[in-house]
Amino acid sequence: MLHIKNLHAGIEGKGILKGINLEVNAGEVHAIMGPNGSGKSTLSAVIAGKDEYEVTDGEIFLNGKNIEDLSAEERAHEGVFLSFQYPVEIPGVSVTNFVKTAINETRKAKGEADMPASEMLKKIREKAELLEIDRKFLSRSLNQGFSGGEKKRNEIFQMAMLEPKLAILDETDSGLDIDALRIVANGVNKLRSKDNAVIVITHYQRLLDHIIPDFVHVIHDGKIVKSGTKELALELEEKGYDWIKQEATI
Ligand code: ADP
Ligand code: MG
Ligand code: MG
Repeated sequence: MLHIKNLHAGIEGKGILKGINLEVNAGEVHAIMGPNGSGKSTLSAVIAGKDEYEVTDGEIFLNGKNIEDLSAEERAHEGVFLSFQYPVEIPGVSVTNFVKTAINETRKAKGEADMPASEMLKKIREKAELLEIDRKFLSRSLNQGFSGGEKKRNEIFQMAMLEPKLAILDETDSGLDIDALRIVANGVNKLRSKDNAVIVITHYQRLLDHIIPDFVHVIHDGKIVKSGTKELALELEEKGYDWIKQEATI
């Protein structure tokens, strides 16, 4: 599904990613961990096609197609979802209206008609129920006065509705509390299927107690310096990142 080859990228002439290689297949959940400033958020932004970052070398393939020339919007239409891609507050636009527009824009880009209102409503009800979201929340203005947990709930609801092929969740320094953690884990676990893939970026091992990844990768200084299974995350929890940094410099 996603194949990243020797990816180098940076911003304003500063190199951040220094040769990332990563292969993510349908049905897999990959966790990306690593110390602060190692390039995790940059990697997710570059995959999603955020244009402030410059790719200086390497390639990203999505379903066998080089996506270099696709805008962030076009990548979203191809099924790439990045959490917090739309963090804006939009007074007067509800949580549901926003997601309806996003779904219909994707359909339009594929030359399809809008989703029939009844089907949309059914889907909204289904996903809201699945994620334990109440109706009052769905009619609130997007992100306006949302607590941390509510922002997460909105984000995961967007993900569930859009049913992305590749979801990238960048759990930055947001200080996920127990509630938010449960919302994210629940959303990801319910999205998991043989047809889609999830990349969870986190430096919190505890998130991975709830989302059991198939693979764990550690980024240090713009490179994946170690890959393993969920045991690697436990090892990191126990030993920290220093041993990895040392191994990486040998
Ligand atoms: P992580 O998510 O692993 O904490 P980031 O990808 O956010 O790391 O950052 C990697 C490095 O790139 C850091 O040194 C950071 O300061 C730098 N960086 C990231 N985004 C920008 C930006 N928009 N402008 C300047 N420097 C940036
Ligand atoms: Mg950071
Ligand atoms: Mg980050």
